[in-house]
Amino acid sequence: MSSLELDKVSVAYGNIQAVHEVSLSVRQGAVVCLLGANGAGKSSLLNAIIGLIPLRGGKISWQGRDMTGTRAFEAVRQGLSLSPEGRRLFPGLTVMENLAMGAYRQTRGDTAVSLERVFGLFPRLKERARQRAGSLSGGEQQMCAIGRAMMSNPSLLLLDEPSLGLAPKVIGDVARAITEINATGVTILIVEQNAKLALRLSEYAYVLETGRVALHGPSKELIDDPHVRAIYLGGVATA
Ligand code: ATP
Repeated sequence: MSSLELDKVSVAYGNIQAVHEVSLSVRQGAVVCLLGANGAGKSSLLNAIIGLIPLRGGKISWQGRDMTGTRAFEAVRQGLSLSPEGRRLFPGLTVMENLAMGAYRQTRGDTAVSLERVFGLFPRLKERARQRAGSLSGGEQQMCAIGRAMMSNPSLLLLDEPSLGLAPKVIGDVARAITEINATGVTILIVEQNAKLALRLSEYAYVLETGRVALHGPSKELIDDPHVRAIYLGGVATA
């Protein structure tokens, strides 16, 4: 069953059209990735899915429900959550306070359950709970951003560049957490410039080029695609 469906979605900022009639679908329970160079329109698409920016055209549905025109606060109520590019934490607030921001619509009991789950995924956040987010390492900040997105107990998690600027070991920790989140039944759409990582984590991939879907297919096949290899994997063999 396909749970997220985009039908000819377009996004524009004034005269700049960032996304042109993109259609894609994400199976319930899958990890799907969206690859593309800087400015290809990946973040615009994620932000449009969660209702942070309006569509210029097209339709979005989630679990059979029409989400076109739905605003972000309502999308969160429908089970969507976004960990944005650049993390967007409140550096002066503690880890705990940042996490609490993600649970604003939950009851106190639900918040406690979500918090335990986030601390289970990222034990380091528990150790640093009272530390200001601005004092965390880049990897810990990324964990905090994903943790905050998980605090609303989403069924669809949108991850924008979770590996950006992180050291290889930390990328491994974040990748393991993503796999663990998915194993609990959360559907994940992940935007990444690290194509190798994204293709390893996902079952299906879409490649965006100047706002259009240039290529799509099972991740295992795209790893061997000459175009993907040349442009996104630096021409190296990955086997
Ligand atoms: P990156 O990895 O650099 O974030 P991206 O693939 O996520 O790239 P977008 O950030 O979605 O791409 O940008 C797509 C296009 O839309 C680019 O041409 C960008 O300059 C433009 N754009 C993005 N945000 C805005 C904005 N707020 N106002 C005007 N143009 C924008």
